[in-house]
Amino acid sequence: MTDKHILIVGGGTFGLSTAYHLAKSGYTHITVLEKDSLIPSEASAGNDLNKIIRAEYEDSFYTELALEAINQWKTNPLFAPYYHQVGYLLATSINAPDKAKRTLAKSLSSIQNHPAFSGGLVTPVESRADIKSVAPAFSGPMEWRGYFNRLAGYAHAADSLHATFAACRELGVEFVLGDGAKILLLDEGAGGNRKCKGVATDEGEEHEADVVVLTMGASLGRLLPEIGPQVAAKAFSVAHIQLDEAEAENLRGIPVTYARDLGFFSEPDPRTRLLKICPSGAGITNFAGSDADDSEASHSGKEKKKTKKTKKKKKGRKISVPPEDSSFIPHHDEEAVRKLVRDTLPEFADRPLVKCHMCWCADARDTEYIIDYVPQTTNLVVFSGDSGHGFKMLPTAGLWVKKLIEEGVQKVVRWRWKERKEDCEGDGDVSWRVGEVHHFGRLLMEKEMGEMDRAMAKM
Ligand SMILES: Cc1cc2nc3c(=O)[nH]c(=O)nc-3n(C[C@H](O)[C@H](O)[C@H](O)COP(=O)(O)OP(=O)(O)OC[C@H]3O[C@@H](n4cnc5c(N)ncnc54)[C@H](O)[C@@H]3O)c2cc1C
Repeated sequence: MTDKHILIVGGGTFGLSTAYHLAKSGYTHITVLEKDSLIPSEASAGNDLNKIIRAEYEDSFYTELALEAINQWKTNPLFAPYYHQVGYLLATSINAPDKAKRTLAKSLSSIQNHPAFSGGLVTPVESRADIKSVAPAFSGPMEWRGYFNRLAGYAHAADSLHATFAACRELGVEFVLGDGAKILLLDEGAGGNRKCKGVATDEGEEHEADVVVLTMGASLGRLLPEIGPQVAAKAFSVAHIQLDEAEAENLRGIPVTYARDLGFFSEPDPRTRLLKICPSGAGITNFAGSDADDSEASHSGKEKKKTKKTKKKKKGRKISVPPEDSSFIPHHDEEAVRKLVRDTLPEFADRPLVKCHMCWCADARDTEYIIDYVPQTTNLVVFSGDSGHGFKMLPTAGLWVKKLIEEGVQKVVRWRWKERKEDCEGDGDVSWRVGEVHHFGRLLMEKEMGEMDRAMAKM
């Protein structure tokens, strides 16, 4: 088994974790194909200053997985340098909608009586004074209620991806950078099952392998539109405030701070002194012009005709994929960021927001990861549906792919490919997200109209 050639398409969070765990357990022939010329890639949702590492979940299954990951973040010398256990202040503001309050209560109940959090690791936050006791640098009004969890923090995300990349290379993983997978090379196999020979790339190269693992994050729908009913590319806004040395130093050691109805931030990056801030929201989709019928995906050989037929049946079904450029944030998210800053650090409330962009992830309709063989294929695996909660699993996620490859079947039912129509229906409302889903095309139009108005006003 360990001499099989494994091709991993996408060198982001899940791709690197998969390559690392396979290589570490003796697999000798692993190739990672990454469309960007650098790792971490510009397009990776994990390429960020920081990501929250916490075990609160509405579902105890993920709490246990997150605790295993946190243990690795703390003890594994590869990941530990990038983990900062500064604690997690989770709250809702006084005017928060009920949904935000409900999700906070569910988060608390997942850890409140858990043995891993015994000994006073979780304490209530009922006043501004309680907040000041864990974050003395905050000076805003903060009429918030919630709790403080000491067994949580953040990871320096880009640096930990880079370290995993370096570890993979040391373990002999081959990386092909700067060329993306464009076409799946699928052949008719025995018993009606298809075999994936590999992928053809944008540059016209072909990469063949015994097992192909697709870890392309939000972009998976481009190569595999069949994933469309289960997964939609969804973006969340990211903004930054530039601090000077003294300001950054003053915020050193603050907890990860998340008002569920407003947004979240962590301590400033020591290198750039950027304070990253994300507003709360239900996300942004981009369905326009991404119909499964006109996506880039296609198949090779005999399969071509068959695929055309299937596609005809699916005509009209849209998939959401990231647009070419999304380096702005919508006005309503900018407002939310400013409100969060006014509440906590009012001295920065009017400072320019810099390096604003949307960060795209793969939202599963039921928010479960999808780690499985693509139906009717013998060797094509997907790891998708991160649903915005995958980064914390960097130290462990690859083990789940290894298990699947070795056992040949996904035994964790919730991670299976969803084929039943009823599993792919519903409006995709996510219980822990507050607000409404927006559409990228409309936001782009609003941005362009705003720019035009401002230009006219100057004339
Ligand atoms: C704003 C925001 C905040 C988040 N905060 C947190 C958090 O605090 N904690 C947490 O645990 N998680 C968080 N997440 C989620 C986390 O970032 C993702 O779950 C995780 O990065 C998903 O990993 P992935 O490997 O599926 O995708 P990615 O990391 O996006 O990797 C996909 C890779 O595939 C490559 N690729 C794409 N197309 C091709 C192609 N055709 N050929 C080759 N390569 C290709 C891309 O360049 C990229 O490198 C957040 C996400 C967002 C958007």
